[in-house]
Amino acid sequence: MSHDETFTEFLTRRGVSRRSFLAFCTATAAALALPAAAARELAANLAVARRPSVIWLSFQECTGCTESLTRSGEPTVEALILDHLSLDYHHTLQAASGEAAEQARRDAMAANWGSYVLVVDGSIPTADGGVWSTIAGVTNLEMLRETIEGAALVIAVGTCAAFGGIPAAAAVTAPNINQSGARSVGELMDAGEIVTRTLINVPGCPPVPDVISGTIAYFLAYGTAPELDDQRRPIPYYGTTVHEQCPRIWHYRNGEFAFAFDDERAQQGYCLYLLGCKGPETRNACPRVRWNLNTSFPMHSGHGCLGCSEAAFWDRALAVDGSGFTGSCFYPDVRP
Ligand code: SF4
Repeated sequence: MSHDETFTEFLTRRGVSRRSFLAFCTATAAALALPAAAARELAANLAVARRPSVIWLSFQECTGCTESLTRSGEPTVEALILDHLSLDYHHTLQAASGEAAEQARRDAMAANWGSYVLVVDGSIPTADGGVWSTIAGVTNLEMLRETIEGAALVIAVGTCAAFGGIPAAAAVTAPNINQSGARSVGELMDAGEIVTRTLINVPGCPPVPDVISGTIAYFLAYGTAPELDDQRRPIPYYGTTVHEQCPRIWHYRNGEFAFAFDDERAQQGYCLYLLGCKGPETRNACPRVRWNLNTSFPMHSGHGCLGCSEAAFWDRALAVDGSGFTGSCFYPDVRP
């Protein structure tokens, strides 16, 4: 597919009706908290958007972010937003390997210098010269330094790229657990170790796929990032706590809590706060955007929020009780 093909031409070729496209724009505009009239503007701008070149670098990660991106299910306009991108380089999804793959990255950079979108998932190891993770003999840090130079926009997808994630987690009794010196894209940028570019953090472990596609749709339509919070997260998606959007909040306000995941109170939809729910301190759009083709989200299916889009997520997961790791702290025993 040519870079000259507009999004409308692309959708027509993929058999997507204008009605579906407009429904997507209306839902995305609502999710982005844009005024009602903005849905038409989003549709008009997106319709003529050209295919941007995207270089996707995967560093210290578990591939969960890519799994989230390529979720199974019927093709939707949300998914096609991602198909519309020219994924010129993606370690996990590309067919090329070895020198051909690295040449594809260099070719994409040269052909689209100054205009490509760089997506990063995974944290970047910096200890010992960065040798903890290399690709084609090049350290992740070196590859990031080189690739970010020609990028117009950088999107750090997932909690590892946005905040360091599990490779950077440092529990109280094990301060040296971050042996690889893992750091986030933003940390490296703020420290001047890589050049500064517009950076959008889309944290989550993994992030909600529609939040990734909505953020990209906004960039395609307006050529800029949506408004960001002080942690560089798009405010439309991360401006509200999960708690404030949770259907169980009325039970919280009434002091009605479940004491076990299988008790009668849980079955009646009572609040899961005493079972470790992190909804009150977590900003994300899960209850509004939902997962798996808008099917469900944790509190809807009876599980508390884990707080995966917050900077301290993995440190909190490795809480200690004085005798060493307790493993997950998400399931305290609260039975009376
Ligand atoms: S289940 Fe969690 S997010 Fe929902 S109301 Fe209770 S504490 Fe808040």
